[in-house]
Amino acid sequence: MSKSKSINTSKTETVAAVAATKTTEVTKPSPIGETVVTPMQELGVAGVKESGNINSKPRFIVESGAVINSKSGFMKKLLCDGLTFTAGHACAFSCKFCYVEAMIFKKIKRLQAISKERNLKFEEMCVEIGDAPAKARKYLTRNGKPRFDDVNDNRVIFASPLVDVAATMSQVNTTVEICTAILELTHWQIRLLSKSPLLVEVAKRIPVQYKNRVIYGLSTGTMDSDLAKAFEIGTGLVSKRLAALKWLQENGYRTYAMVCPILPQTDYDAFAQSVVKQIDIGKCEHVWAEIMNVRGDSLTATVQALRDAGRVDEADLLKKIANDKSAWEQSARQTFEALAQVIPGDKLRFLQYVNAKSQAWWTARKEQGAIVLAKKPRKSKVAGKADNKALAVVAES
Ligand code: SF4
Repeated sequence: MSKSKSINTSKTETVAAVAATKTTEVTKPSPIGETVVTPMQELGVAGVKESGNINSKPRFIVESGAVINSKSGFMKKLLCDGLTFTAGHACAFSCKFCYVEAMIFKKIKRLQAISKERNLKFEEMCVEIGDAPAKARKYLTRNGKPRFDDVNDNRVIFASPLVDVAATMSQVNTTVEICTAILELTHWQIRLLSKSPLLVEVAKRIPVQYKNRVIYGLSTGTMDSDLAKAFEIGTGLVSKRLAALKWLQENGYRTYAMVCPILPQTDYDAFAQSVVKQIDIGKCEHVWAEIMNVRGDSLTATVQALRDAGRVDEADLLKKIANDKSAWEQSARQTFEALAQVIPGDKLRFLQYVNAKSQAWWTARKEQGAIVLAKKPRKSKVAGKADNKALAVVAES
């Protein structure tokens, strides 16, 4: 791989490519985090280079073709029609409840190698795919012509199952380039999800003729900015995310809400009221909701983060029900019932993993918006590269 080809093609990285040849340093600040792009450094791990940092995390660029996945289990969550794309493997943000490490770290050897080489935990690194927009275009074409040119093929592709799509302006530009490729070369619709108000910048940059083919969602499990800050590191303030959603709605963009992950509550009705007070449900196409799920050490880490931030009541409640399966199920049901009171059944998409004991209760509430997910989903068999296989497993989670 030549040096220039190893560099991402977004505008910031194009600057970086020039910088790399001149061996000068380029700094690109953003309102949320900061992308510091430096000349590419060889890392000692095949197919990986290091270049600066994002949100104070070392930034690694990997050579991977796994940008678009056509057999994603996110379809079961009704977020897409089996299609997803990602421009990275490790996020610029660091949410304590994040499931990505538990799902992919042990399956992608390159991530383990980076971790070992630089003595970093997964959450301490940001991993981007080099030339992700070019790889998306390559996937979408055959012999230079669009592969998916059926005008009736209006499937929804979701981004991203692994990283935030708008954590910094650099990533905004990459997301816009990938979206533009999809919009030009297919008739698909795109669903984007972010914890950053910079998602508005994505919307502003996507050519206006494609406005009706992109659906924007801002994610938060609480309407309380201070509470979110306790366990989400680097993300945009909840108040700013809500303002971004409002801006998108007021400017005629398609939107949806993602109320996730929801902590156990002392008053579930009050929580549901806070959601509908802050989010204009009438303008959302759908409202996804999900309680906090156990992934690896995520629950322990979230409890500790809440405690460290002085949110002792929330930490105690989460810990208490985490150790009591019956209380956990009860909390999920109360959350669902409270939200189902204020969100119409054709709009609510409440994601719930079930077991043999709980399945009947949730299945009976599908019309009210329950999406019943298998506790131990089967792994999909996806042909292709090792990374693609690993990502398919993620999508099944
Ligand atoms: S924004 Fe999403 S992918 Fe990124 S750390 Fe948070 S939960 Fe994980």
